[in-house]
Amino acid sequence: MLVAIDGPAGAGKSTVARAVARALGFTYLDTGAMYRCAALAWPRDVATLDIAFDGDRVLCDGEDVSDAIRTREVSEKASEVAARPDVREALVARQRALIAGGDWVAEGRDIATVVAPDAEVKVFLTASPQERARRRAAELGADAHVVAQELAMRDQRDTGHGRSTLEPAPGAELLDTTGLSIDEVVQRIVERVRQ
Ligand code: C5P
Repeated sequence: MLVAIDGPAGAGKSTVARAVARALGFTYLDTGAMYRCAALAWPRDVATLDIAFDGDRVLCDGEDVSDAIRTREVSEKASEVAARPDVREALVARQRALIAGGDWVAEGRDIATVVAPDAEVKVFLTASPQERARRRAAELGADAHVVAQELAMRDQRDTGHGRSTLEPAPGAELLDTTGLSIDEVVQRIVERVRQ
């Protein structure tokens, strides 16, 4: 079974997807981390990269890059390299191979549209621009106004190639997390899966 969680940066996808996976006993797949690895290793050919997950840690060619891939520079670069069709093709193929067996919660931008349009449960998480910027700024220890500008630019760049940062995929449930606690969001998704 596959639960697809898409949505823009700062909507709470990672926290929610991780918690939903834990609650259901499914495996969590952070597809954004794969684009981030491609950005960190750029200009190396993504097809030659060994990207692996070990619990919450992300490994690239055996090296733990979990922290290195979370910087603002890598966020920007990831959004840039993710617009390249060759990079997307390589990573989408790997994501499909991974989720082909077992139960997964996969999180990204194009899970319900491109990677797995036949996912049993599709959720599009969003939040107001102010709320998304506030969350990201708190995570990064950065200024919310600057982060808001960066997010607006990233939203624009993250649209296209089967991705949308504004609209849910056909059949996906739109879940606005503004004003909701993480537990409330997780609960809603878990209930939907159990139904
Ligand atoms: O989700 P996260 O912010 O870690 O993703 C980093 C970047 O990777 C995004 O800004 C987006 O450009 C790209 N991405 C993508 N498709 C996905 C996941 C992430 O294009 N499925």
